[in-house]
Amino acid sequence: MAGIISKIRMAVLITVVLIVSSPCANAEKRPIVLDAGHGGYDTGIISSGLKEKDVTLTIVKSLKAVLEENDERRVWLTRKIDQFASIAERRAEANSASPSMLVSVHLSSNDRASVYITWYLKSDTNLSLSEYYSVTSAQRRYIYESKALSRALGGALSDLLGVSVTYREMPLELLNTIAAPAVLVELPSSGIDFEERIAEVVSVIAEGIEAYERGE
Ligand SMILES: [Zn+2]
Repeated sequence: MAGIISKIRMAVLITVVLIVSSPCANAEKRPIVLDAGHGGYDTGIISSGLKEKDVTLTIVKSLKAVLEENDERRVWLTRKIDQFASIAERRAEANSASPSMLVSVHLSSNDRASVYITWYLKSDTNLSLSEYYSVTSAQRRYIYESKALSRALGGALSDLLGVSVTYREMPLELLNTIAAPAVLVELPSSGIDFEERIAEVVSVIAEGIEAYERGE
């Protein structure tokens, strides 16, 4: 009898161990999603002969390569070529990846950088409560992580690239609909020679993402 009970106990123990350990062991690491702004007929801004859509695509492709030097990290791109993608398509692509974060890359119209998170409850907003909940339902749970990610990216841009950074909150549709920390970065379109300094810019953005991952 004692032998049977100990066998049952062992079977229960093994079952519990398997149940507890298997999801972790099999869990795929959630990818970082990078979104290159604009594309196709939507050129974005044109500065010094460079089109925003080309600069953002070059940056996210290079950033993917840098981030994936860490074997544990996976990076998805919402577009890989020069083609138009609607916000709905970007949103669907991003959310289908169950991302750990989304970083959308754009250029500003001047020599400053801006880092956006979605608009969340502010006393001066004139959104009704139902509008507020509908526009931010996916993002709402992650807003504090989004803010931390925006600070880490903005900090890297100001400390390592020496650019002025403005932090903004705006009800941007792409950010609102992402179920993960989500920010939109506008890099300065003037004052940085992207053809000369692309590797430096990419390493600074990577450093900002890694600082966020480290909880800094
Ligand atoms: Zn843009």
